[in-house]
Amino acid sequence: DKLDPTSSVLRQLVVVRVRPLNSAEKARKAFQCVFPLDKRRVLLVDPEKFENNILRQNRQHERKFEFDATFGAVSNQEDVHETTTGPIVDSVVQGYNATVFAYGATGSGKTFTMIGTKERPGLMTLMTKALYEKLDNQYQVLLSYMEIYNEIIRDLLNPTGGDLELLEDERGNIRVPGLSSVKAPNLTRVMIVKNQTLHSKLFMIDLAGSERASNTQVSFLKHSHSHPQRFTLKNRGIRLKEGAAINRSLLALGNVINSLASKTTKYVNYRDSKLTRLLKDSLGGTAKTCMIAHVTPSSSNFEETYNTLMYASRAMNI
Ligand code: ADP
Ligand code: MG
Repeated sequence: DKLDPTSSVLRQLVVVRVRPLNSAEKARKAFQCVFPLDKRRVLLVDPEKFENNILRQNRQHERKFEFDATFGAVSNQEDVHETTTGPIVDSVVQGYNATVFAYGATGSGKTFTMIGTKERPGLMTLMTKALYEKLDNQYQVLLSYMEIYNEIIRDLLNPTGGDLELLEDERGNIRVPGLSSVKAPNLTRVMIVKNQTLHSKLFMIDLAGSERASNTQVSFLKHSHSHPQRFTLKNRGIRLKEGAAINRSLLALGNVINSLASKTTKYVNYRDSKLTRLLKDSLGGTAKTCMIAHVTPSSSNFEETYNTLMYASRAMNI
């Protein structure tokens, strides 16, 4: 079982979080078109065909998606942590690299999940707390905080410090020289196992809004959707152009996920963007990865939701 933290199968998890319908959406007379069915499955209903009873009977306008876990409006931050970052922390303590990323369109809840609010702290806080509970003074913990924007890496702990470069050493370890880090207090020694130092890296990533990378998703649709007529996507030419210019990292991540998911492709190209180069030793291989795909339940966001669920389905094949 992939959800068993002690299982060696735990390599990648793909979960979906559906945030509650908000008041602005209700005011716009939007209605719910995404329904969590059980712990793993969500149902998506095409809102344009919602009223059509003949289609409803035929279920032509419905599609079920299955993930490792699904979180609806009743799930809280701790529920998400227990399934995702909780098990990941155990792996990190054992020396594995790990990456947790929040994927989804703008407004779908990525930052809420990763950072949260004062009252409802998100995964970064819950994960850090869990990590400290697992560690004794044999460990040294270093925390860094960076941003990749327009392919430029900035140190958010030292924002005036200029652009940073990425380097790969001869053993394939990726480093960002000059990136500042803070030492967690009282955790000063490094864990030694058989005279070897264990290093692990954990990335917690709040990705850019996926609506700008939808050309990747449209191609997923073409290749992997067995009933391409069921949902018709509107013309998105302008967005495609923007996506190419603005979100190289997100597009490259999609391609890496595609290659990792492919049964036939053996070669994975990490070199196309700063994000994928940064994650090279923390995605694929023995690294643990967790994608938390975010969608709104609103009929007004149907297209983005459909794209996000398709993208996440594709990642389920890794
Ligand atoms: P994103 O980072 O994907 O653009 P945000 O995290 O900023 O989206 O979420 C958009 C809004 O929805 C915010 O006001 C946030 O507080 C709210 N929100 C998101 N997810 C949830 C949730 N699970 N429960 C309650 N409110 C949420
Ligand atoms: Mg955000």
